[in-house]
Amino acid sequence: MRRPGLAFLAGLATCALALILLGGKTSPTGTVSDRDVYYPGSETLAPDEMRIVALGTGMPSVRPKQAAACWLVELGNGDKFLFDIGSGCHERLAAQMIPYDYLNKVFIGHLHVDHMGDLPSLWLGGTVMNRLVPLRVWGPSGGTPEYGTAASMERMKEMYVWDIGTRSGVIDFRGGALEVHEFPFDGINEVIYDENGVVVRSIPAVHGLDGAVSFVLEWNGLKFVYGSDTIPNKWYVEHAAGADVAIHECFLPATLLVTKQGFSPQEALMVGTQGHTSPEQFGKVMSLVKPRLAIGYHFYNDFDTEPVVRERLRRTYDGPVDLATDYMVWNVTKDEIRVRMSAVDEEVWPSPPLMKKIAPDTGSSIAFSEFTISGALGFPEVVGPIFDEINELYGTKAEPIFKK
Ligand SMILES: [Zn+2]
Ligand SMILES: [Zn+2]
Repeated sequence: MRRPGLAFLAGLATCALALILLGGKTSPTGTVSDRDVYYPGSETLAPDEMRIVALGTGMPSVRPKQAAACWLVELGNGDKFLFDIGSGCHERLAAQMIPYDYLNKVFIGHLHVDHMGDLPSLWLGGTVMNRLVPLRVWGPSGGTPEYGTAASMERMKEMYVWDIGTRSGVIDFRGGALEVHEFPFDGINEVIYDENGVVVRSIPAVHGLDGAVSFVLEWNGLKFVYGSDTIPNKWYVEHAAGADVAIHECFLPATLLVTKQGFSPQEALMVGTQGHTSPEQFGKVMSLVKPRLAIGYHFYNDFDTEPVVRERLRRTYDGPVDLATDYMVWNVTKDEIRVRMSAVDEEVWPSPPLMKKIAPDTGSSIAFSEFTISGALGFPEVVGPIFDEINELYGTKAEPIFKK
Protein backbone atom coordinates (compact mmCIF):
# COMPACT_ATOMS: atom_id res chain seq x y z
CA MET A 1 0.00 0.00 0.00
CA ARG A 2 1.26 3.45 -0.84
CA ARG A 3 1.86 5.64 2.15
CA PRO A 4 0.38 9.12 2.02
CA GLY A 5 2.92 11.75 0.97
CA LEU A 6 4.09 14.50 3.26
CA ALA A 7 2.23 17.11 1.23
CA PHE A 8 -1.02 15.21 1.69
CA LEU A 9 -0.54 14.99 5.44
CA ALA A 10 0.33 18.66 5.64
CA GLY A 11 -2.83 19.46 3.66
CA LEU A 12 -4.97 17.44 6.07
CA ALA A 13 -3.42 19.19 9.05
CA THR A 14 -4.04 22.63 7.48
CA CYS A 15 -7.72 21.81 6.83
CA ALA A 16 -8.16 20.59 10.40
CA LEU A 17 -6.49 23.68 11.78
CA ALA A 18 -8.63 25.96 9.59
CA LEU A 19 -11.80 24.22 10.83
CA ILE A 20 -10.71 24.61 14.44
CA LEU A 21 -9.84 28.30 13.94
CA LEU A 22 -13.07 29.10 12.15
CA GLY A 23 -15.12 27.05 14.58
CA GLY A 24 -16.82 25.42 11.63
CA LYS A 25 -18.90 28.59 11.10
CA THR A 26 -17.48 29.63 7.76
CA SER A 27 -18.02 27.94 4.45
CA PRO A 28 -15.65 28.46 1.53
CA THR A 29 -18.32 30.44 -0.31
CA GLY A 30 -20.00 32.28 2.58
CA THR A 31 -19.21 35.58 4.26
CA VAL A 32 -16.95 35.90 7.26
CA SER A 33 -19.04 37.04 10.20
CA ASP A 34 -16.45 39.41 11.68
CA ARG A 35 -13.38 40.35 9.71
CA ASP A 36 -11.99 42.44 12.56
CA VAL A 37 -11.73 45.46 10.28
CA TYR A 38 -13.60 48.76 10.53
CA TYR A 39 -15.45 49.76 7.38
CA PRO A 40 -16.31 53.48 7.64
CA GLY A 41 -20.01 54.23 7.44
CA SER A 42 -20.99 50.63 8.17
CA GLU A 43 -21.41 50.63 11.96
CA THR A 44 -23.87 52.43 14.21
CA LEU A 45 -22.30 53.78 17.39
CA ALA A 46 -24.09 52.67 20.54
CA PRO A 47 -25.53 55.59 22.57
CA ASP A 48 -22.78 55.18 25.19
CA GLU A 49 -19.93 54.47 22.78
CA MET A 50 -16.98 56.56 21.61
CA ARG A 51 -15.04 55.93 18.41
CA ILE A 52 -11.57 57.37 17.94
CA VAL A 53 -9.97 57.34 14.49
CA ALA A 54 -6.30 58.15 13.86
CA LEU A 55 -6.25 60.28 10.70
CA GLY A 56 -2.69 61.56 11.05
CA THR A 57 0.00 60.09 13.27
CA GLY A 58 3.25 61.01 11.56
CA MET A 59 5.57 63.94 11.11
CA PRO A 60 5.58 67.34 9.33
CA SER A 61 7.05 65.57 6.28
CA VAL A 62 3.92 63.65 5.41
CA ARG A 63 4.17 60.37 3.55
CA PRO A 64 1.66 58.03 1.92
CA LYS A 65 1.45 55.88 5.05
CA GLN A 66 1.15 58.67 7.61
CA ALA A 67 -0.30 62.18 7.45
CA ALA A 68 0.46 64.75 10.15
CA ALA A 69 -1.47 65.00 13.42
CA CYS A 70 -5.25 64.57 13.26
CA TRP A 71 -7.64 62.63 15.47
CA LEU A 72 -11.37 62.19 14.97
CA VAL A 73 -13.56 61.53 18.00
CA GLU A 74 -17.13 60.39 17.32
CA LEU A 75 -19.66 60.03 20.11
CA GLY A 76 -22.83 58.01 20.41
CA ASN A 77 -24.84 61.24 20.78
CA GLY A 78 -23.93 62.14 17.15
CA ASP A 79 -21.25 64.72 17.96
CA LYS A 80 -17.94 64.62 16.12
CA PHE A 81 -14.73 66.43 17.00
CA LEU A 82 -11.42 66.88 15.24
CA PHE A 83 -8.32 67.30 17.35
CA ASP A 84 -5.61 68.91 15.23
CA ILE A 85 -5.85 68.99 11.48
CA GLY A 86 -2.31 68.44 10.23
CA SER A 87 -1.04 68.33 6.67
CA GLY A 88 -2.35 65.47 4.57
CA CYS A 89 -5.11 64.37 6.95
CA HIS A 90 -8.04 65.66 4.89
CA GLU A 91 -8.08 62.71 2.51
CA ARG A 92 -8.10 60.34 5.49
CA LEU A 93 -11.01 62.29 6.90
CA ALA A 94 -12.83 61.99 3.58
CA ALA A 95 -12.36 58.22 3.78
CA GLN A 96 -14.58 58.19 6.89
CA MET A 97 -17.60 59.03 4.68
CA ILE A 98 -18.99 61.58 7.12
CA PRO A 99 -21.19 64.40 5.76
CA TYR A 100 -19.20 67.64 6.00
CA ASP A 101 -21.87 69.40 8.06
CA TYR A 102 -20.84 67.13 10.93
CA LEU A 103 -17.14 67.94 10.53
CA ASN A 104 -17.47 71.48 11.82
CA LYS A 105 -15.63 71.37 15.16
CA VAL A 106 -11.84 71.56 15.14
CA PHE A 107 -9.64 71.87 18.23
CA ILE A 108 -6.07 72.90 17.46
CA GLY A 109 -3.41 72.20 20.10
CA HIS A 110 -0.84 74.58 18.65
CA LEU A 111 -0.16 76.35 15.39
CA HIS A 112 2.57 74.15 13.91
CA VAL A 113 1.88 73.23 10.30
CA ASP A 114 1.79 69.53 11.15
CA HIS A 115 -1.17 70.30 13.45
CA MET A 116 -3.13 72.74 11.28
CA GLY A 117 -1.81 72.40 7.71
CA ASP A 118 -5.06 70.97 6.29
CA LEU A 119 -7.32 73.53 7.97
CA PRO A 120 -7.62 75.64 4.78
CA SER A 121 -8.45 72.49 2.85
CA LEU A 122 -11.24 71.52 5.27
CA TRP A 123 -12.46 75.12 5.53
CA LEU A 124 -12.60 76.11 1.85
CA GLY A 125 -12.59 72.65 0.29
CA GLY A 126 -15.45 71.81 2.66
CA THR A 127 -17.59 74.56 1.12
CA VAL A 128 -17.55 72.82 -2.26
CA MET A 129 -17.97 69.43 -0.61
CA ASN A 130 -21.32 70.28 0.90
CA ARG A 131 -20.61 71.78 4.31
CA LEU A 132 -23.31 74.42 4.73
CA VAL A 133 -22.62 75.33 8.36
CA PRO A 134 -19.77 77.53 9.66
CA LEU A 135 -16.47 75.87 10.51
CA ARG A 136 -15.86 76.26 14.24
CA VAL A 137 -12.24 76.42 15.37
CA TRP A 138 -10.93 76.38 18.94
CA GLY A 139 -7.29 77.23 19.57
CA PRO A 140 -5.01 78.81 22.18
CA SER A 141 -3.83 82.36 22.59
CA GLY A 142 -0.12 83.00 22.17
CA GLY A 143 2.46 84.77 24.29
CA THR A 144 1.32 87.96 22.52
CA PRO A 145 -1.85 88.50 20.44
CA GLU A 146 -0.13 88.07 17.05
CA TYR A 147 0.89 84.55 18.04
CA GLY A 148 -2.65 83.51 18.91
CA THR A 149 -5.21 81.45 17.02
CA ALA A 150 -7.50 84.43 16.31
CA ALA A 151 -4.71 86.38 14.58
CA SER A 152 -3.69 83.26 12.67
CA MET A 153 -7.25 82.76 11.41
CA GLU A 154 -7.51 86.41 10.33
CA ARG A 155 -4.32 86.00 8.31
CA MET A 156 -5.58 82.74 6.86
CA LYS A 157 -8.62 84.62 5.55
CA GLU A 158 -6.30 87.19 3.96
CA MET A 159 -4.13 84.47 2.49
CA TYR A 160 -7.11 82.90 0.76
CA VAL A 161 -8.86 86.07 -0.38
CA TRP A 162 -8.55 85.02 -4.04
CA ASP A 163 -10.04 81.59 -3.33
CA ILE A 164 -12.95 83.19 -1.47
CA GLY A 165 -13.37 85.72 -4.29
CA THR A 166 -13.93 82.94 -6.82
CA ARG A 167 -16.75 81.49 -4.75
CA SER A 168 -18.69 84.52 -3.56
CA GLY A 169 -21.90 84.81 -5.51
CA VAL A 170 -21.15 81.53 -7.26
CA ILE A 171 -21.94 78.84 -4.67
CA ASP A 172 -23.92 78.67 -1.43
CA PHE A 173 -21.06 79.87 0.77
CA ARG A 174 -22.57 79.51 4.26
CA GLY A 175 -19.88 76.90 5.00
CA GLY A 176 -17.21 79.53 4.35
CA ALA A 177 -17.99 81.30 7.63
CA LEU A 178 -15.30 80.78 10.27
CA GLU A 179 -16.28 80.82 13.93
CA VAL A 180 -13.09 81.23 15.94
CA HIS A 181 -12.85 80.59 19.68
CA GLU A 182 -9.49 81.63 21.09
CA PHE A 183 -8.92 80.71 24.73
CA PRO A 184 -6.02 81.47 27.09
CA PHE A 185 -3.14 79.04 26.57
CA ASP A 186 -2.37 79.15 30.30
CA GLY A 187 -5.82 78.11 31.47
CA ILE A 188 -5.47 75.03 33.65
CA ASN A 189 -8.29 72.58 33.09
CA GLU A 190 -10.53 75.46 31.99
CA VAL A 191 -13.74 74.58 30.17
CA ILE A 192 -13.54 75.76 26.55
CA TYR A 193 -16.53 73.82 25.20
CA ASP A 194 -19.71 72.68 26.92
CA GLU A 195 -22.55 71.56 24.66
CA ASN A 196 -24.85 68.59 24.38
CA GLY A 197 -23.36 66.82 27.40
CA VAL A 198 -19.79 67.10 26.08
CA VAL A 199 -17.18 69.11 27.98
CA VAL A 200 -13.75 69.93 26.56
CA ARG A 201 -11.09 71.44 28.80
CA SER A 202 -7.66 72.76 27.92
CA ILE A 203 -4.43 72.37 29.86
CA PRO A 204 -1.12 74.06 29.06
CA ALA A 205 1.51 72.13 27.09
CA VAL A 206 5.26 72.72 26.94
CA HIS A 207 6.18 72.85 23.28
CA GLY A 208 7.69 75.34 20.85
CA LEU A 209 6.55 78.64 22.38
CA ASP A 210 3.92 79.85 24.79
CA GLY A 211 0.64 78.95 23.11
CA ALA A 212 0.55 75.14 23.04
CA VAL A 213 -2.15 73.16 24.83
CA SER A 214 -3.54 69.68 25.36
CA PHE A 215 -7.23 68.78 25.54
CA VAL A 216 -9.42 66.72 27.85
CA LEU A 217 -12.83 65.65 26.49
CA GLU A 218 -15.39 64.17 28.86
CA TRP A 219 -18.73 62.70 27.90
CA ASN A 220 -21.00 60.09 29.36
CA GLY A 221 -18.45 59.01 31.97
CA LEU A 222 -15.71 58.55 29.38
CA LYS A 223 -12.54 60.63 29.42
CA PHE A 224 -10.41 61.18 26.31
CA VAL A 225 -7.15 63.11 26.53
CA TYR A 226 -5.21 64.43 23.56
CA GLY A 227 -1.74 65.83 24.20
CA SER A 228 -1.11 67.33 20.74
CA ASP A 229 2.64 68.07 21.15
CA THR A 230 4.29 68.44 24.53
CA ILE A 231 7.21 67.30 26.57
CA PRO A 232 6.18 65.67 29.83
CA ASN A 233 4.49 68.24 32.04
CA LYS A 234 2.72 68.41 35.38
CA TRP A 235 -0.60 69.54 33.95
CA TYR A 236 -0.92 66.51 31.67
CA VAL A 237 0.04 64.15 34.49
CA GLU A 238 -2.50 65.68 36.83
CA HIS A 239 -5.45 66.18 34.51
CA ALA A 240 -5.07 63.14 32.26
CA ALA A 241 -5.03 60.90 35.32
CA GLY A 242 -7.43 58.02 35.08
CA ALA A 243 -8.35 58.72 31.44
CA ASP A 244 -10.02 55.99 29.46
CA VAL A 245 -7.80 56.87 26.51
CA ALA A 246 -4.73 59.08 26.87
CA ILE A 247 -2.92 60.12 23.68
CA HIS A 248 0.52 61.65 24.04
CA GLU A 249 3.30 62.22 21.57
CA CYS A 250 6.02 59.57 21.55
CA PHE A 251 8.95 60.49 19.33
CA LEU A 252 11.54 58.22 17.81
CA PRO A 253 14.42 57.60 20.21
CA ALA A 254 17.46 59.80 19.71
CA THR A 255 19.42 56.81 18.36
CA LEU A 256 17.01 56.46 15.41
CA LEU A 257 16.78 60.22 14.88
CA VAL A 258 20.51 60.05 14.16
CA THR A 259 20.64 56.84 12.11
CA LYS A 260 17.35 57.10 10.21
CA GLN A 261 16.56 60.79 10.05
CA GLY A 262 20.02 62.25 9.70
CA PHE A 263 19.96 64.41 12.84
CA SER A 264 23.25 65.34 14.47
CA PRO A 265 23.65 63.73 17.93
CA GLN A 266 23.18 67.14 19.57
CA GLU A 267 20.02 67.83 17.50
CA ALA A 268 18.65 64.36 18.21
CA LEU A 269 19.00 64.85 21.96
CA MET A 270 17.52 68.35 21.94
CA VAL A 271 14.61 67.58 19.60
CA GLY A 272 14.07 64.05 20.90
CA THR A 273 13.95 64.80 24.62
CA GLN A 274 13.74 68.56 25.20
CA GLY A 275 11.44 69.65 22.35
CA HIS A 276 9.55 66.36 22.10
CA THR A 277 8.94 63.26 24.21
CA SER A 278 11.16 60.18 23.89
CA PRO A 279 9.63 56.71 24.35
CA GLU A 280 11.17 56.46 27.83
CA GLN A 281 9.62 59.82 28.82
CA PHE A 282 6.28 58.76 27.29
CA GLY A 283 6.37 55.61 29.42
CA LYS A 284 7.12 57.61 32.54
CA VAL A 285 4.16 59.92 31.88
CA MET A 286 1.80 56.98 31.35
CA SER A 287 3.03 55.27 34.51
CA LEU A 288 1.80 58.32 36.39
CA VAL A 289 -1.41 58.87 34.39
CA LYS A 290 -2.43 55.18 34.47
CA PRO A 291 -5.02 55.36 31.66
CA ARG A 292 -7.11 52.40 30.63
CA LEU A 293 -5.25 52.71 27.32
CA ALA A 294 -2.21 54.80 26.43
CA ILE A 295 -1.67 55.75 22.79
CA GLY A 296 1.67 57.02 21.48
CA TYR A 297 1.98 58.78 18.14
CA HIS A 298 4.08 61.28 16.18
CA PHE A 299 6.76 59.03 14.73
CA TYR A 300 7.28 57.09 11.50
CA ASN A 301 5.73 53.85 12.63
CA ASP A 302 7.29 50.98 10.66
CA PHE A 303 8.33 47.38 11.12
CA ASP A 304 11.81 48.45 12.17
CA THR A 305 10.92 51.44 14.37
CA GLU A 306 7.88 50.21 16.31
CA PRO A 307 9.75 47.42 18.14
CA VAL A 308 12.49 49.86 19.18
CA VAL A 309 9.99 52.46 20.43
CA ARG A 310 8.01 49.78 22.28
CA GLU A 311 11.08 48.26 23.93
CA ARG A 312 12.20 51.67 25.19
CA LEU A 313 8.81 52.76 26.53
CA ARG A 314 8.53 49.39 28.29
CA ARG A 315 11.53 50.40 30.40
CA THR A 316 9.25 52.88 32.18
CA TYR A 317 5.66 51.65 31.60
CA ASP A 318 4.03 48.24 31.77
CA GLY A 319 0.38 49.16 31.17
CA PRO A 320 -1.80 48.87 28.06
CA VAL A 321 -0.42 50.79 25.08
CA ASP A 322 -0.97 51.16 21.33
CA LEU A 323 1.49 52.85 19.01
CA ALA A 324 -0.67 54.57 16.45
CA THR A 325 -0.50 54.60 12.73
CA ASP A 326 -3.02 56.14 10.33
CA TYR A 327 -6.44 54.50 10.11
CA MET A 328 -6.26 52.77 13.49
CA VAL A 329 -9.70 52.86 15.12
CA TRP A 330 -10.67 52.42 18.75
CA ASN A 331 -14.19 51.72 19.98
CA VAL A 332 -14.46 52.74 23.60
CA THR A 333 -17.16 51.85 26.11
CA LYS A 334 -17.00 51.52 29.88
CA ASP A 335 -16.54 47.77 29.47
CA GLU A 336 -14.21 47.46 26.53
CA ILE A 337 -11.67 49.20 24.32
CA ARG A 338 -11.39 47.52 20.95
CA VAL A 339 -8.74 48.43 18.39
CA ARG A 340 -8.87 47.64 14.70
CA MET A 341 -7.58 48.95 11.41
CA SER A 342 -9.94 50.82 9.13
CA ALA A 343 -10.50 49.76 5.53
CA VAL A 344 -10.31 52.61 3.04
CA ASP A 345 -12.28 53.14 -0.14
CA GLU A 346 -9.94 55.15 -2.35
CA GLU A 347 -12.80 56.16 -4.62
CA VAL A 348 -14.99 57.71 -1.93
CA TRP A 349 -17.00 60.83 -2.87
CA PRO A 350 -18.26 63.55 -0.54
CA SER A 351 -21.71 62.87 0.90
CA PRO A 352 -24.66 64.87 -0.45
CA PRO A 353 -25.56 67.99 1.59
CA LEU A 354 -27.85 67.46 4.56
CA MET A 355 -29.27 70.99 4.45
CA LYS A 356 -31.09 72.50 1.51
CA LYS A 357 -28.77 74.55 -0.65
CA ILE A 358 -29.62 78.20 -1.21
CA ALA A 359 -28.98 79.87 -4.54
CA PRO A 360 -26.15 82.41 -4.08
CA ASP A 361 -26.62 86.14 -4.52
CA THR A 362 -25.04 86.43 -7.94
CA GLY A 363 -24.83 90.20 -7.47
CA SER A 364 -21.93 89.69 -5.09
CA SER A 365 -19.81 87.80 -7.59
CA ILE A 366 -16.62 89.39 -8.86
CA ALA A 367 -16.49 89.91 -12.62
CA PHE A 368 -13.60 89.11 -14.93
CA SER A 369 -11.88 92.02 -16.62
CA GLU A 370 -12.50 92.69 -20.33
CA PHE A 371 -8.98 91.39 -20.90
CA THR A 372 -9.65 87.90 -19.54
CA ILE A 373 -13.05 87.71 -21.20
CA SER A 374 -11.42 88.58 -24.54
CA GLY A 375 -9.37 85.36 -24.29
CA ALA A 376 -12.17 82.93 -23.56
CA LEU A 377 -13.44 80.65 -26.31
CA GLY A 378 -17.14 80.17 -25.59
CA PHE A 379 -17.69 77.46 -28.21
CA PRO A 380 -21.45 78.22 -28.28
CA GLU A 381 -22.10 75.40 -30.75
CA VAL A 382 -20.79 72.95 -28.10
CA VAL A 383 -21.84 74.62 -24.86
CA GLY A 384 -25.30 75.77 -26.05
CA PRO A 385 -26.65 72.21 -26.38
CA ILE A 386 -25.29 71.34 -22.90
CA PHE A 387 -27.27 74.24 -21.42
CA ASP A 388 -30.34 73.28 -23.48
CA GLU A 389 -30.13 69.71 -22.20
CA ILE A 390 -29.95 70.68 -18.53
CA ASN A 391 -32.50 73.50 -18.80
CA GLU A 392 -34.94 71.12 -20.43
CA LEU A 393 -34.33 68.35 -17.87
CA TYR A 394 -34.65 70.56 -14.81
CA GLY A 395 -36.83 73.43 -16.01
CA THR A 396 -34.05 76.01 -15.48
CA LYS A 397 -33.15 79.03 -17.57
CA ALA A 398 -29.37 79.18 -17.16
CA GLU A 399 -27.25 80.92 -19.79
CA PRO A 400 -23.52 80.65 -20.46
CA ILE A 401 -21.24 83.48 -19.30
CA PHE A 402 -18.95 83.18 -22.30
CA LYS A 403 -21.27 83.59 -25.25
CA LYS A 404 -18.85 84.06 -28.15
ZN1 LIG B 1 4.50 70.95 17.23
ZN1 LIG C 1 3.87 67.94 15.89
